[in-house]
Amino acid sequence: MYDIIIIGAGTAGISAYKEAIRHTQNILVINQGPWDTTCARVGCMPSKVLISTANRMHDILYADEVALNVKADIDRSQVMQHVRRLRDRFTAATLRDVESWDPQHKISGTAVFINENTVEVDGQHYQAKAFIIAVGSTPNIEIELKNKLAERLITSDQVFELEQLPRSLAVIGSGVIAIELAQAFQRLGVKTTVFARSAKVGVLTSPNLQKIAQQEISKELDIKFGYLPESFELIGDEVQITYDKENPQTLNVDYVLTAIGRKSNLSSLKLENIHPDYKDTKQLDIDANSKQLGKYPIFIVGDAYTSTPLQHEAAIEGKLAVKNCLNYPKIENIKTLTPLGIVFSSPEMAISGQNYAVLVKQGIEFVTGTVSYEKQGRAIVLGKNQGAVEVYVEKSTRRLLGAELLVESAEHMAHLLSWIISQQLSIDEILEMPFYHPTLEEGLRTALKHARRQLAANSNG
Ligand SMILES: Cc1cc2nc3c(=O)[nH]c(=O)nc-3n(C[C@H](O)[C@H](O)[C@H](O)COP(=O)(O)OP(=O)(O)OC[C@H]3O[C@@H](n4cnc5c(N)ncnc54)[C@H](O)[C@@H]3O)c2cc1C
Repeated sequence: MYDIIIIGAGTAGISAYKEAIRHTQNILVINQGPWDTTCARVGCMPSKVLISTANRMHDILYADEVALNVKADIDRSQVMQHVRRLRDRFTAATLRDVESWDPQHKISGTAVFINENTVEVDGQHYQAKAFIIAVGSTPNIEIELKNKLAERLITSDQVFELEQLPRSLAVIGSGVIAIELAQAFQRLGVKTTVFARSAKVGVLTSPNLQKIAQQEISKELDIKFGYLPESFELIGDEVQITYDKENPQTLNVDYVLTAIGRKSNLSSLKLENIHPDYKDTKQLDIDANSKQLGKYPIFIVGDAYTSTPLQHEAAIEGKLAVKNCLNYPKIENIKTLTPLGIVFSSPEMAISGQNYAVLVKQGIEFVTGTVSYEKQGRAIVLGKNQGAVEVYVEKSTRRLLGAELLVESAEHMAHLLSWIISQQLSIDEILEMPFYHPTLEEGLRTALKHARRQLAANSNG
């Protein structure tokens, strides 16, 4: 019997293995499919390569904003080759790491549970005192539509395999993955149309920032808010989309990229063999903090079961779950990180700490400090004077609880903010810290001062 069996060798599973190996050699990792992680192969990394090339092109095209005249061409094959070349570099690094593991610690195959301490892989049974389930998720796709459109309907799993940039693309969805990819393709000269069922882009929950985000992103991207396609027809090498029931319109595109969320791979595990109630994997009794399944020594980490499908959260959960397995039944909270989420759109979106919607829902009394970046000095210098930031400060404690950002370099400012929020600092302590001139961070100071004025007005009133 193994001390721990880890099911799934993505970011969370690999992180769990690296921690477990420091404590026991009696471990097994079971993984279905490639061992190079969703993040490196079809997720974070190739998407960021594409976005980086797209943003460089955008900067070149709009170089006149900083008084330059520059011309540039896009080689439609070269861009996709570049994406794959860098992607292969990242996946090779992961694979090298996995190859260095003791061969007795890993097997390829699909694990299914036989009972609470036994899994089966290709007819073989393996038993463990504890399990870490790190099986991740896969893109949602309508099977009927896939059968109809065949290779013209793609998800993020296929998009980086395109030999060359398409001439046109329809993106279904307006969440993080949809917006990041749609904007990147548009910036690379692909005529891109987004169908957004809701009037929402990305992750921002503040109504004010969400409105600005929609306006800013719509300036360069054709987003059909409130519309989903009515029908799809394959006509030659193109897909003809009909949309708008009242006033039917058509659009012909090379590809349809569907980005309508992801579904957990938990259903592949036959958890009902542990308990009949676990047939419906959407209704599992998983503790939100310890990630424990029911009363079993089974911990579900990473994208397999989360409201925050993020690489860094998967990694830390995988690592911390090992402690829970080894010390079982002594269990600790493994959901320990201050929330931090980033969308690599332009302007970037980010959330640090508690978001606006959560604070409102929890009935917390807070003030909102705001800054617009339209007239912010450094943003003007950079030619990136768009967007705004909101900071949320608790009235009773004067502590910074959270922030939402829509601004150039939000990724960096969101990190600073989440680190500050983790320190539980008050607005007064934060405003004692250095703010270099001229920087985008000075905008944060403006927002914080705006919040402090409101706190003062409240206490005077
Ligand atoms: C396009 C895209 C862009 C992204 N960008 C970012 C980003 O910029 N920043 C960020 O933080 N996050 C990003 N993410 C999310 C990030 O990739 C995930 O949070 C992370 O990969 C989750 O890791 P995981 O270990 O939970 O799952 P995975 O890495 O998917 O690993 C799960 C593994 O389990 C295997 N498996 C499944 N079922 C079984 C079974 N029954 N038996 C055995 N093995 C099984 C799978 O085949 C897979 O190998 C992005 C995701 C996508 C798709």
